[in-house]
Amino acid sequence: MRFSRSLIPTLKEEPVDAQVVSHRLMLRAGMIRSLGAGIYTWLPLGLRVLRKVEKIVRQEMDRAGAQEVLMPAVQPGELWQESGRWEQYGKELLRFVDRHERQFCFGPTHEEVIADLVRREIRSYRQLPANFYQIQTKFRDEIRPRFGIMRGREFLMKDAYSFDLDVTGLDVSYQTMYAAYQRIFQRCGLAFRAVEADTGSIGGASSHEFHVLAESGEDVIVSCDQCDYAANLEKAVAGEGATHDTEPLLSLQRSATPGQKSIEAVTRFLNITAQRLVKSILVEAAGQPLLLLLRGDRELNLIKAAAALGVPQVTLPDPERAARLANVAMGYLGPMNSHLPILADWELRTARNFACGANEEGWHLQHVNWERDVPTPTFVDLRNVEAGEPCPRCAGGHLLRHQGIEVGHVFKLGDKYSQAMGVRVLNDQGVEQTLIMGCYGIGVSRIVAATIEQHHDQKGILWPPALAPFHVEVLLLNPRDNAEGAAADALYQQLLAAGIEVLLDDRDERVGVKFKDADLLGCPWRVLVGGRSFKEGVVEIQSRDGTRLERVAIADAMEHIAGLVR
Ligand code: ATP
Ligand code: MG
Repeated sequence: MRFSRSLIPTLKEEPVDAQVVSHRLMLRAGMIRSLGAGIYTWLPLGLRVLRKVEKIVRQEMDRAGAQEVLMPAVQPGELWQESGRWEQYGKELLRFVDRHERQFCFGPTHEEVIADLVRREIRSYRQLPANFYQIQTKFRDEIRPRFGIMRGREFLMKDAYSFDLDVTGLDVSYQTMYAAYQRIFQRCGLAFRAVEADTGSIGGASSHEFHVLAESGEDVIVSCDQCDYAANLEKAVAGEGATHDTEPLLSLQRSATPGQKSIEAVTRFLNITAQRLVKSILVEAAGQPLLLLLRGDRELNLIKAAAALGVPQVTLPDPERAARLANVAMGYLGPMNSHLPILADWELRTARNFACGANEEGWHLQHVNWERDVPTPTFVDLRNVEAGEPCPRCAGGHLLRHQGIEVGHVFKLGDKYSQAMGVRVLNDQGVEQTLIMGCYGIGVSRIVAATIEQHHDQKGILWPPALAPFHVEVLLLNPRDNAEGAAADALYQQLLAAGIEVLLDDRDERVGVKFKDADLLGCPWRVLVGGRSFKEGVVEIQSRDGTRLERVAIADAMEHIAGLVR
């Protein structure tokens, strides 16, 4: 591709409204442009990278035995009513009506559509196992689209769906996809981790996420420093913590705490540690208010709370609403004499002589004990684990915390959709049997951003070779010099003929601009044609990471470059 003939609108200035490096660099390198909140046009350079990711994904899906299909982006609402998700999915689902007043949505995912296809087309166990995938545009009306294409509203996803006769079959399909995912992210040149994950609103028995490790990642994942345990924070099992159950029970005490509402204020005022103070958080689940209890120094995880309660979502009402539901000023909420149902973090199972709000403004209680003062509640895992805690899987290991960007997700769905939608085949006894499904997503467009988050420096992108928009960029230093121009052109043609992807910067621009743009675009190799070297019959070949610099006779340049990029 000739730079002078291409739309690669690089920017010198930092875009003001881009918060993460990948978004800034994708705008500055002229890879994408925004059309509206969370919707983007891919320009030629960006599209080349996106296609490379797609190609790797496609090859590995094919190799794993999945069959490519392309389903409609627009889906009839009736299918979603059948699965029960029309009501459940909420505002992320973009809904609309056609001219006949029929309900439709723009697909955020395709379980319903594929289930409908399979119930019509697959009749016999002999056609199983089957796995269908597509690479297709999805729309999710994200509440906060941000970070460019990292969390867009419209984005490109690879979604695959497996169908097996039983759970043993699903285990095999799942393992095959898991292995294919590992190969995909390895081939992309990414440092990543597979972690156990919450199954969330898609539902199902078990799931793993694949995370690209990067400081800007929105997800927190933990891993053991000794064994292979790794999980999303939403799933990571918290330990039971220190026990106080040898302490003698002290008598209940009411303490005035006027104006002391925060954990810090109360602990300072009462001169106790935050571990001693039990905090009570009012949440709502399925329209019902309830109290969640945690040690004062811990963080509540709403996804764990939802999983423990078996509801799709647990929400925190705003303070005004919370005070109204609890019937007490915020800051003084507590479990004693509360009219609300209570769930406590399992670390509190052995708590003794703890402090908590008195359910009365200006008062706390101290030396509270289960059973004697508060009926023993149900204990469940509600809190975020912290770095350094013991591993829940092995003896002796400790947990590390990392930031991650979720680029892939595999789910064992079981019969959730096939049951609701009647996806059945005749088994070898001639009896109808409901199929067992798995689903497997990859954020194809998100991979592009995640790669940049992991591979960049002050000056721009450093593409892993497999995803680079071009293997090499040839910089013509003096476009007005005919001899240099002819030589650069000849090398460009030779490289193209050898099947090497090359960008020729033949623009009538200053050398400094070309160098800056080359750094920004981040092709693994650049070749300088011009100046004193050219007069000596030589070109300079540089690696983007600055580790290699070679001078090669022009006549040998093509062969030499071919050796470097292969
Ligand atoms: P997240 O937790 O990031 O919102 P999700 O759990 O909703 O993602 P899945 O339903 O598992 O996502 O979708 C499969 C993959 O699609 C994800 O692993 C992610 O890489 C990608 N993806 C999901 N939402 C977006 C989005 N808004 N923009 C870009 N990629 C996305
Ligand atoms: Mg997910």
